Amino acid sequence: MDLIEIKKLIASKKLLCTIFGHNIVTSKKITNNLKEYKCTVCKMELTNDEKGGITFLTPELKEINEALGTFCQKKLTVKQH
Ligand SMILES: [Zn+2]
Repeated sequence: MDLIEIKKLIASKKLLCTIFGHNIVTSKKITNNLKEYKCTVCKMELTNDEKGGITFLTPELKEINEALGTFCQKKLTVKQH
């Protein structure tokens, strides 16, 4: 690997995550068991899967999470009245 490639990797911040690991924070809480996570360094997004594990947040999963969040909020509103 030459210096230009290393510099590119550092600029993309992916190398930092490769070396130090991702700095994951919770970006969105959808339900008690379903959250979205984000790496503050490389902006990689993750979410919980149905088995309670962690998976990459694809645009499809993001849509499902949003729909679920709206659904749960509506349920909560109904309960409160
Ligand atoms: Zn990262």
